[in-house]
Amino acid sequence: MTTLGTPLSPHAFRVLLLGAGELGKEVAIELQRFGVEVIAADRYANAPAMQVAHRCHVLDMLDAEAVRALVEAERPHLVVPEIEAIHTRTLVEMEAGFQRDGHDARVIPTARAAWLTMDREGIRRLAAETLGLPTSTYRFVDTLEQYRDAVAEVGLPCVVKPVMSSSGKGQSLVRGAADIDPAWNYAQSGGRAGAGRVIVEGFVDFDYEITLLTVRHAGGTAFCAPIGHLQRDGDYRESWQPQPMSPLALERAQAVARAITDDLGGWGVFGVELFVKGDEVWFSEVSPRPHDTGLVTLASQELSEFALHARAILGLPLSVDADGNVPLKTVAASCAVLVEGQGVPVFSCVDAALARPGSDLRLFGKPRVDGQRRVAVTLAPGADVDTARSHAREAASALRVELA
Ligand code: AMP
Repeated sequence: MTTLGTPLSPHAFRVLLLGAGELGKEVAIELQRFGVEVIAADRYANAPAMQVAHRCHVLDMLDAEAVRALVEAERPHLVVPEIEAIHTRTLVEMEAGFQRDGHDARVIPTARAAWLTMDREGIRRLAAETLGLPTSTYRFVDTLEQYRDAVAEVGLPCVVKPVMSSSGKGQSLVRGAADIDPAWNYAQSGGRAGAGRVIVEGFVDFDYEITLLTVRHAGGTAFCAPIGHLQRDGDYRESWQPQPMSPLALERAQAVARAITDDLGGWGVFGVELFVKGDEVWFSEVSPRPHDTGLVTLASQELSEFALHARAILGLPLSVDADGNVPLKTVAASCAVLVEGQGVPVFSCVDAALARPGSDLRLFGKPRVDGQRRVAVTLAPGADVDTARSHAREAASALRVELA
């Protein structure tokens, strides 16, 4: 039985979001609808989710003491990591402490899941070595010498990534001998924690890649329809749902997603990233939280991935179909809007971006841009995937973004 109180009262059900970006903002809004008291934290002020939270905190979430002090001060019922760059060891220690002290608190989906997925190594070793799931070939290396040996073993082309990075930062595709040393130098400069360990992955020549949103909830495990996506420079640009797949490839993708999410455990949405070629499927990564490519579900599903996450973490039922999966409302697509430079985003031609019936968008409210950042997403339904994608792209190019 789930009991939810009233925010800002002694009976409030409190959720602490560690990370307050655009995905956290949608989760916060969904939690607010259930009268949850939402506390948002990030390393900078006025982050998107902070703008829709009851309270916010600015701190370095890689600082163990700062994370511990925040959780102790807020005493949330749920701690919801929204990004990878968190001192997850502290969450693992604190989770054990919650049980010991009889404090009714949980980390979503589990502290171990947040810890294992904070870098590429923990989750890759779990998937490939413990669970025996199909992945690209890979080597982890710490020095230039080990790296050169690993590239020789894995073979060309290969993909080189810092173990602690996301959104394509520090990632390169090594096609020929001339790319080998520059890829190392780029990986050393692009990691979240500075220079360090690197993964060398065999290039998977896939037909397409998907995110299989998988929801672990009180009633079991539910899959969303597969989301296809287009990445550029390791960063998502377009996504659509459903991605057509052969029945065997879908069955295999769901089996991989079930294996990895069952092992990670807990409740919530997971974004399982897979490569597909014909009927063959490779596990790539998993986020134990809503996924950026899943923004499309704001248009394609009755309950978006954010609404599903809110329900799942609160122990509430989802609306599922006869197979126990999440129904699709309509074919739809999303297109990311990126901007480069320095300043505060100002959007114009918003009306033009919304001109087509059924189209929608989200302006994230990021307080400032420094470099290349995603600042908005457009959403469009369509009779088929190609139409939805072209409408979402059209809306994105109609939108004007300047940096003031
Ligand atoms: P990641 O940060 O690992 O999700 O990588 C970002 C994107 O780079 C993926 O979504 C793929 O499009 C591409 N990519 C990453 N690893 C590989 C690989 N081993 N083979 C082919 N493409 C890859």
